[in-house]
Amino acid sequence: MKKNLVLKLLTIIISIIVLLILLIPRPLYADDGGTEVYKAKLYSVEIRHSIWENNAGFDWYRADLEEGTFGYLTGTKIKIFGRIIRDNTEFLTSEECECKRCNRP
Ligand SMILES: [Zn+2]
Repeated sequence: MKKNLVLKLLTIIISIIVLLILLIPRPLYADDGGTEVYKAKLYSVEIRHSIWENNAGFDWYRADLEEGTFGYLTGTKIKIFGRIIRDNTEFLTSEECECKRCNRP
């Protein structure tokens, strides 16, 4: 009876530790203009803010801007089990970007 209880408690404690290891994110800061990545074993959240050049060869090319214009790729990319479930990355000029970094007084 007592041995059973100890085993149960041990199982619960080990399960909690494993869950924490899988779910607690590790913050990473890229040196690309301000991208922050929160990476855990099961998921990752990338808050993108990287310096980018408007170039026809890339996915985020904007025809309404001149080619070679500098700006930022901004948006949030969420991955669960390595699969992208949300990605609203877009190319914005620093005037269009509404973040604190681009709108310093
Ligand atoms: Zn910005």
